[in-house]
Amino acid sequence: MARKIGSRYTAHSVIGRGSAGTVWLGEGPEGPVAIKILREDLASDQVLVGRFVQERTVLTSLDHPRVVGVRDLVVDGDDLALVMELVHGSDLRSRLDREGPFTPQAAVSVVADVAEGLAAAHAQGVIHRDVKPENILLDQGSSPGPGGAPRAKLSDFGIARLVDAPRRTRATRIIGTPDYLAPEIIEGLEPRAAVDIYALATVLYELLAGFTPFGGGHTGAVLRRHVTESVPPLPGLPEPLWKVLAQCLAKAPASRLRAAELATGLRELLPGLAGLPALHIAHPDAPAVTPLPGYDADDEAFEDEEATTPRRRRGSAVPLVPGSAPDSSRETHTNLRRPRPEELAGLAEASRAQRAAAGRRPGLSPSGAQRSGAGGAAARRRRLVLAGAAAVVLAIACVGGYAAFSGPDTTRHHGNPGDAVWPTASTTHAAGLPKAPVAGATDSVPASGAAHLPVWAAWTDAPAAPAPLVSGVRVVRMDGTAYVFGTDATGAIRYVTRSGGSFGQWGKLTGIHVSGEPAPVVLPGGVLRLFATGTDGLIYQRDYSGGTWAPWSQLDGHTRVDSPPAAAATGDRVDLVARIGGDLATTSYVGGAWTAWAAVSTVGQVAGDPSLAAENGGRVDAFVAASAGTVQHTQLADGLWHTYHAVSGVTGRARPEAVQLDTGEIYVFSTGPDYAASATGATWTQGTLPSGPASAYAPGAYADSAGVTLFRVTPSGGLQYTHGK
Ligand code: ADP
Ligand code: MG
Repeated sequence: MARKIGSRYTAHSVIGRGSAGTVWLGEGPEGPVAIKILREDLASDQVLVGRFVQERTVLTSLDHPRVVGVRDLVVDGDDLALVMELVHGSDLRSRLDREGPFTPQAAVSVVADVAEGLAAAHAQGVIHRDVKPENILLDQGSSPGPGGAPRAKLSDFGIARLVDAPRRTRATRIIGTPDYLAPEIIEGLEPRAAVDIYALATVLYELLAGFTPFGGGHTGAVLRRHVTESVPPLPGLPEPLWKVLAQCLAKAPASRLRAAELATGLRELLPGLAGLPALHIAHPDAPAVTPLPGYDADDEAFEDEEATTPRRRRGSAVPLVPGSAPDSSRETHTNLRRPRPEELAGLAEASRAQRAAAGRRPGLSPSGAQRSGAGGAAARRRRLVLAGAAAVVLAIACVGGYAAFSGPDTTRHHGNPGDAVWPTASTTHAAGLPKAPVAGATDSVPASGAAHLPVWAAWTDAPAAPAPLVSGVRVVRMDGTAYVFGTDATGAIRYVTRSGGSFGQWGKLTGIHVSGEPAPVVLPGGVLRLFATGTDGLIYQRDYSGGTWAPWSQLDGHTRVDSPPAAAATGDRVDLVARIGGDLATTSYVGGAWTAWAAVSTVGQVAGDPSLAAENGGRVDAFVAASAGTVQHTQLADGLWHTYHAVSGVTGRARPEAVQLDTGEIYVFSTGPDYAASATGATWTQGTLPSGPASAYAPGAYADSAGVTLFRVTPSGGLQYTHGK
């Protein structure tokens, strides 16, 4: 179905579709070309066609190896066609969707290529204005660059400017993604070259992380994040690369590097990045669970849209104006509608209000408060009360600004501003957690016989971790191998295996910064699942099976806890507990989903980190310190939490460690030499461990038919173990 385009070109077959038109494989006097035939409604717009013709020279004069050259512009009857250099290969978006994040070296190589193309264009006074993965083509026809990265070329130069310029004949109506928009555009300034740098740095971030720094959710939320939030850090990224990235994502255009500087800076980093694996960063789109009713609504008020609208996959477009559906899923924002002055006034005002609100509290950054989360819940609430008020102001401004443009076309995109539920002032004050189901008061624990106290061997040194541990440890056994997990001072997880009496090499897990010791469980089918609390207070999980670790994912994107998690698995079911404020909070993975977090009221107010012991015919015992330093005990059986007594014989605010033998006996260890043993959990017998240097870190234990093996972290961060039977 060849089609004549003007007198010199023939279009043979479609090779791609975009929002501005269809790209054909074509033939011209000088050989094969790519021909973009603009959408009919654009081609029939006389003003637009006039503008293309006027700009023909600018469009066709950019000649650079890192830019997809425009050879010709053809106006032929109803057709408006751009004849381009043919690039053999996919665009960066498809590659990213297909293969996920790039290695740092490959990402930097691709972005350095694009920066060189931008430098050439900027030198001629041409701004791209629509830099994003869809408009970066990977040239498989030339030999790969550093790290095996394909060479990249920037396409669609100047098109955004042409299609997006003020229109007289009709409303502007192409769709766009706001993920790559520089804050100054949102604030209404005339776009300059620095907007391309911001967009390209966003692409670099996305190549490294797999998601953009400010994308996701409601359009208004994305715009607000560009203006007010700091860039979420990428744990594990080499510092010099992070510096360049952060500098180019600066809010102030003048602070960003220029294209040529960026290209040079990135090329200099390339050798140092050789061999680094791709980062594994938890995706903010990780499946959401039932939102936590009532918990820390402060957080939710601040994060407004995240709480009401799950983050969406990046790369899809959000309609800024109703009325026009893109002609395929390959959307582009060649004419992202520029917000009108009155909208911008609202946004700018609100962002100023938010900055001012944050600024009143010394030491608080105006942004990203909810992403850092290293502080306690109380501190978080304080700053959220302040920031929350501003967020509401901003939210209202966004609704005010955008509601006017949200038409009835709400079916394709759930992020429509008109139907978002915006926080109100009343939601900034949280109710407590809902209560987990509790057994009746008449339940009583059967009286028990005396527990057996094992005979313990002396503490023995295990091979030390390459970096000292700064947390307690937890242990799990799978297929005869024990896995001991702790955390080092950088927030990386360190683990060592022990089987047949000998230790393996220490392993290291990065990708997130972990706070406290992670909690491993073993699931059917030889899967070790590790849960950890990030320094952001969110819980992450990661599976190990068949000798490899899967990437981290988030349990949910909004529930922040104040302790490491404790986990117990019984069959496919996983029970988690963690402290949230003064509550022992729990969630369970049952029937393929996590239940809503709820408070376990049977232990009263708690102060420490919890432990769980399972391997108990479906029952799970939880142990956690109350504020007085007593260790409380409660048991989950048949979905109900039962009231038990404090464990006598162990005290302390640190996490108690609990382990259960096949016989049903439970041992509870504190950080000191004392421990308690019980046959049923009703009465406890006190025992004493072999002496050794006192440590503040909680020990970790596992039980098997040969008895109990206990690991502990020494005050200097080393590992020791003992065995009792
Ligand atoms: P739009 O910008 O109008 O949304 P695109 O520029 O994204 O459209 O083009 C659609 C698809 O066509 C791209 O994903 C790409 O795969 C293909 N394409 C575009 N330009 C070229 C080219 N010069 N050579 C080869 N393929 C191209
Ligand atoms: Mg394009």
